[in-house]
Amino acid sequence: MAEQQNDKRGAGKVQPVPEQDFSDYAGLMVIVEQRAGVAKKVSWQLLGEAKRMADKINAPVYALVMGHNVRHLADEAISRGADKVYLCDSPVLEQYRTRPYSRVSLDVIRTYKPEIVLVGATYTGRDLAGAIATHLPTGLTADCTQLDVDENRVLHASRPAFSEKMLATILCKQYKPQMATARPGVFLELAADSTRKGEVVSVSSPMSEAEVVTEVLDFLELTDRINMEDHEVIVAGGKGLGNAEGFKLLQELADALGGVVGASRAVVDMKWIDHDHQVGQTGSTVRAKLYFAIGISGAVQHVVGMQNCDVIVAINNDPEAPIFKVSHYGIVGDLYNVVPAIIKAVKEKRGLPFAANTANG
Ligand SMILES: Cc1cc2nc3c(=O)[nH]c(=O)nc-3n(C[C@H](O)[C@H](O)[C@H](O)COP(=O)(O)OP(=O)(O)OC[C@H]3O[C@@H](n4cnc5c(N)ncnc54)[C@H](O)[C@@H]3O)c2cc1C
Repeated sequence: MAEQQNDKRGAGKVQPVPEQDFSDYAGLMVIVEQRAGVAKKVSWQLLGEAKRMADKINAPVYALVMGHNVRHLADEAISRGADKVYLCDSPVLEQYRTRPYSRVSLDVIRTYKPEIVLVGATYTGRDLAGAIATHLPTGLTADCTQLDVDENRVLHASRPAFSEKMLATILCKQYKPQMATARPGVFLELAADSTRKGEVVSVSSPMSEAEVVTEVLDFLELTDRINMEDHEVIVAGGKGLGNAEGFKLLQELADALGGVVGASRAVVDMKWIDHDHQVGQTGSTVRAKLYFAIGISGAVQHVVGMQNCDVIVAINNDPEAPIFKVSHYGIVGDLYNVVPAIIKAVKEKRGLPFAANTANG
């Protein structure tokens, strides 16, 4: 009976995948995200990763740039690894809206047939990638932290799964393009090389303003959210601080260095600091030039979010703490003795007045 009902609704049956010929799909495409003509870093990070994979399988790298007055981004995409850029420059694309952006993307993908399409896992990127994948249709692996491609040009898109306890690698073998969104801060962007040569292909917007049913009236900043990925100096604190007050000391060090305060999940869970500051598997992935891990043990879930920072300084009173395995400089000691001394040294060097908050110790 249940089977009959399923049959009537067409549910409960595995639909056969229709045979399609994808043999003319080639190359890796990155959709460049921008706001007001400034590209999101994740787009350049993905171009760097696309170039690495393309070199492995001897394939071209494409970028898709959409917006208004964004020709300079097409040039920048070439300087950062793209061989060919599809540029749709139109007033309709002045601000991000799902329909016009997805229509351009669909037209470009259907016409030029890249076999892999990568998008940053930002709010906008997730919205756009989902709309594109649904309409093509194809599979989309969201929020990846690792990407690779094999000799059969199959994308291996890996992302945390099962409450972030495992890393699942997902393949999409039956449809093209293979699509993935990837977290900001995970991949290394290539340094811009203005001598790189590439081609810019102009494409026109398939939609006029009259056909777009949504209008952006205004932008409201609803939070003072900190974007950890954007900062070069991060002073992160963990449970070793003992209490929320300890973050005042870290803030003083961060201010002296021109950085921001980060945190482990343990202290976020205890509500000592907001989740925006959390670094790690369920927080931000950062690539800071200088990262302090203070009173943080170095659990694997924290380390995956900060291990690619250029210089890591760990301060911990336990010489066996795992954080020392990933740090470039380690200081064994009580953070309430060590941090004020560092603040004093930094402030002296920079000619700043010294009045470290040492209330905790
Ligand atoms: C699914 C999942 C996702 C997770 N995601 C994240 C994530 O995104 N980010 C994250 O950080 N964690 C994450 N975690 C939690 C992670 O496993 C750890 O529990 C957490 O990172 C520990 O935080 P901590 O290092 O601050 O605390 P602890 O592990 O308790 O370490 C405190 C450290 O402080 C040191 N210490 C104590 N007092 C002092 C002192 N006075 N001076 C100097 N050092 C001192 C101790 O020696 C110790 O090493 C996740 C866990 C799971 C299961």
